[in-house]
Amino acid sequence: MVNKLLKTVFGHDKFRAFQQEAVDAILSNKDLLTILPTGGGKSLCYQLPSLVKDGTTIVISPLIALMQDQVSALKNNDIKAEMISSAQDYQEIQNITQRLIQGDIKLLYIAPERLSANGFIDLLHQININFFVIDEAHCVSEWGHEFRSDYRNLSRLKELFPHVNISAFTATATKKVQEDIVNTLKLDNPLQLRGKTLRDNIMINSQKRSSNGRNQLLNFLQGHQKQCGIVYAFSRKDVESTAKFLQEKGYKADAYHAGLSSEIRNGVYTDFVYENIDIVVATIAFGMGIDKSNIRFVVHISMPKTMENYYQEIGRAGRDGLPSETLLLYSKSDEIQRRMLIDNLDNGEYKNLMYSKLNKMYSFANSNECRHKKIGAYFDDELQECKDLCDSCNRGELEYTDIKTECMKLLSTIYRCEQRFGINHIVDVLRGSKSQKVYQFNHDKLSVYGIGEDLSKNGWIAVSERLFELEALDIGEFKATKITSLGLDILKGKVEVNIDKEKLQNVKKERKIDKILDVDDEIFEKFRELRREISTHENVPAYIVFSDKTLVDFANKLPTTKDEALEVNGVGEVKFERYGEQFLKLCHEFKK
Ligand code: ADP
Repeated sequence: MVNKLLKTVFGHDKFRAFQQEAVDAILSNKDLLTILPTGGGKSLCYQLPSLVKDGTTIVISPLIALMQDQVSALKNNDIKAEMISSAQDYQEIQNITQRLIQGDIKLLYIAPERLSANGFIDLLHQININFFVIDEAHCVSEWGHEFRSDYRNLSRLKELFPHVNISAFTATATKKVQEDIVNTLKLDNPLQLRGKTLRDNIMINSQKRSSNGRNQLLNFLQGHQKQCGIVYAFSRKDVESTAKFLQEKGYKADAYHAGLSSEIRNGVYTDFVYENIDIVVATIAFGMGIDKSNIRFVVHISMPKTMENYYQEIGRAGRDGLPSETLLLYSKSDEIQRRMLIDNLDNGEYKNLMYSKLNKMYSFANSNECRHKKIGAYFDDELQECKDLCDSCNRGELEYTDIKTECMKLLSTIYRCEQRFGINHIVDVLRGSKSQKVYQFNHDKLSVYGIGEDLSKNGWIAVSERLFELEALDIGEFKATKITSLGLDILKGKVEVNIDKEKLQNVKKERKIDKILDVDDEIFEKFRELRREISTHENVPAYIVFSDKTLVDFANKLPTTKDEALEVNGVGEVKFERYGEQFLKLCHEFKK
């Protein structure tokens, strides 16, 4: 039964990792916590058992846009799904309530605050709930990055509905957050499934930004012509100027940020999902709700503030499992900008936690190690090196050079400047600069003044970044460079330090451009056009008509009969009834 539904309703031949276990747990009335990376296929884990079990599934999800996407995808598959949110009018909510009481709804999506609305719990008591689903469950934890107080209140669910099982899902949870979810939701001996954080269809790159990063961005986009992607920027101003720049360069791009009217934002969002534009340039305000599965690339033109944010944002690429690519452009100034925001917080555990998260983000960006492995380590997941899925591994054997002496020079300058100055000033002292600030503090009188003239300013910055990466240096208040205990050992000459030679010389490398989808571009484009037409005609987002994966499979297999079409990934009976003939017709044209 379960395998049949997988094929006929969802159009998939087999389960992905952990899906079967999750489905079985729900069907055998167990509480469940599933941690699977974005694109891992979490929705199916609860949507499928919901169809098997009697009653209604209540799905609690943090964002209206996210719910809208899920509900329209389900409806497009003839599944009775609805949502209740502040976006609907009274009459609409009344109708849904009636249908709920009559048992005419399979999945109901609500936001967590709905549970506090007058009479809503009473309403839930009147219906036959088969199980609760808590999506984005990391929002219950203050240790995560998106704590929401409404999510804390979900701890009441178990008291109010002691006999109803709960299934919680998230993509990002360290072990600490995982424990917090189980405790807060009072899950009863839950099955805990923890997928690998590895996204093995995503190629990850990180580069130091040179000037404003525009050339690096254009270079990257050359490998992604006519593909959908998101470019994240730090400020609204950066968003506007980058979108304009891309438009001038001929890209179908638009800007999205919280400062625009909701009308404009909705317009951009709709253009993106209906594929009238290819690129959205956005602040983080864009994306949490995006379910669009065929996002082929994500670029950050400045550094996000935590690894959780970063992993979630790059996670929007390639949810359909097809090859996708990400690029992070970062610089020390991003880190400083982020740090200043944290400086303004009240002192305490949270502030320290945020400093530490920021440090980890920067050292990830600036690292030479396998990027997938580093992400895994951050989320307490031990991964092997990816070998060829990130720029670090693709760079091949690095040539390291010893910088023990340079490190000792740098650290002793910091020490003699009493750990009270920023790194630029330290480099000035090392290089014997005649700047006013150096004279003002009498740093020209120090024994270290001018001992580093042999290395360029950029070279010294590279040495300091290596020390930050190793956590031998840290930044304190007012950007002062501080020496950690490891730094002291290096200063005393007890520890060796080396660095990638290229970094020291600050050589920039151009990336090579590979073809990203394994399909004939011309045929694929025709299928995309057909999908766009259907999408506009039926008023449903393009990826809900069919995913990129399905289009690639169509283009490669070119089926000519219904049976052959049902073999195409993502084509079930319902979808075939809806769109099959139009696609077969196009296949016939190519076969001629
Ligand atoms: P998540 O919520 O974990 O980010 P989704 O539930 O949105 O992931 O699924 C991501 C994509 O994977 C969707 O396009 C979905 O159709 C596809 N998918 C899910 N399960 C399977 C499967 N068993 N086989 C093939 N594709 C799948």
